[in-house]
Amino acid sequence: MIDFELTDEQRLIQETARDFTDREIVPRARDNDRNEHFDTELVQKIADMGYLGAIVPEEYGGREVDYRTYALIVEEIGRGCSAMRTVVSVVTSLVCSSIVRWGSEEQKQEWLPQLCSGEALGCFGLTEPDTGSDASNLKTRAERVNGGWRISGGKMWISLGNYSKLALVFAQTDPEERHRGIACFLVPTDTDGFSTQEIHHKLGLRGSDTAELSLDGVEVPDSALMGEVGDGFKIAMSALDSGRYSVAAGCVGICQGCVDASVAYAKERTQFDRPIASFQLVQEMLAEMVVETEAARGLVWRAGWLKDEGKPNTTETSIAKLYATEAAVKCANTAIQVHGGSGYVDDYPVERYLRDARVTTLYEGTSQIQKLIIGRSVTGVNALVP
Ligand SMILES: Cc1cc2nc3c(=O)[nH]c(=O)nc-3n(C[C@H](O)[C@H](O)[C@H](O)COP(=O)(O)OP(=O)(O)OC[C@H]3O[C@@H](n4cnc5c(N)ncnc54)[C@H](O)[C@@H]3O)c2cc1C
Repeated sequence: MIDFELTDEQRLIQETARDFTDREIVPRARDNDRNEHFDTELVQKIADMGYLGAIVPEEYGGREVDYRTYALIVEEIGRGCSAMRTVVSVVTSLVCSSIVRWGSEEQKQEWLPQLCSGEALGCFGLTEPDTGSDASNLKTRAERVNGGWRISGGKMWISLGNYSKLALVFAQTDPEERHRGIACFLVPTDTDGFSTQEIHHKLGLRGSDTAELSLDGVEVPDSALMGEVGDGFKIAMSALDSGRYSVAAGCVGICQGCVDASVAYAKERTQFDRPIASFQLVQEMLAEMVVETEAARGLVWRAGWLKDEGKPNTTETSIAKLYATEAAVKCANTAIQVHGGSGYVDDYPVERYLRDARVTTLYEGTSQIQKLIIGRSVTGVNALVP
């Protein structure tokens, strides 16, 4: 049975994450957004709190909290700043959780402590210029060479790519094998032939780093291969099961932030000689946001519970991701409405919430892809390819 009551420990962790967010993240969010500044000092503070790799076992430097507790942390950080929440989602869910699940003992020992402590950042290199939703159709190639592999190709839209010490690179070893030929490599970014380029002028997530990666004959030893050749697609999908959950939890934070900002504003702003909170049409907007927030949080909690119980959860995670990301876009849009003209400039966080929420229905599988996963689950028919 799902229990919605927080344990004392979960409540303490939630309060600590809330205080940390209000003290350290919120005051810097607007300037980092304005200046397109990837705030590595703040990333280190987040790491020092144990929020990178929170679900990683303690023996590798993590905090070993369960998935529901992880969602409480991510929700708070997402309320403060989605750019910083993206750092947590990528490092913890896409990179660390993949290494925990698929890495060899040596790979775990080499990378996890550095990633959890913030000494190294990691990025997740799946998407390519010509390959997004159809993730099995990778053009990046890995060829066997003496004692290792030579990787060539390009990756697009890679979060934290310019600042990472480690890149998880997904590459095709045999195009005829399609997804069965994909392998995942742990590539140190200082390897010869590896280079990155910054991507700027994003609609939102301006305080987050986004990169294009080039791999020009990058040579890595056999020990860089994670899992077996052919495991790459499964590794990517299992990473996304954790990543989508993290994105969804962050979006609950955006929704909550919209509610908090809108309630405060509605009580303080007067028109027609009374607070706008007293108008029924304004309360309707607030009520809609509250319902979206609660529904999204409940779906995230259910997916987290399934993960903690070790039960299958891919569909439930997609449901949570689809609902929470669309809810965040809706809530942010409504929150601007509640704020009137003041919501259209960055004196209040709501316009940033909208710009930052917008990417969440795109990355880690678009809303259409989530619907196809859910549709496949209820019909048994795979409509991803018509
Ligand atoms: C800021 C940012 C950060 C990102 N970070 C990362 C990262 O760290 N690592 C990484 O690997 N990737 C990352 N991405 C990439 C992201 O995951 C992709 O953009 C996303 O998967 C969509 O791929 P695409 O952009 O190629 O769109 P496409 O796949 O070309 O899709 C275009 C449109 O077609 C629709 N569509 C595609 N196929 C179907 C179908 N079968 N049925 C119905 N509709 C379909 C899509 O839903 C979408 O509406 C990031 C993207 C952004 C913008």
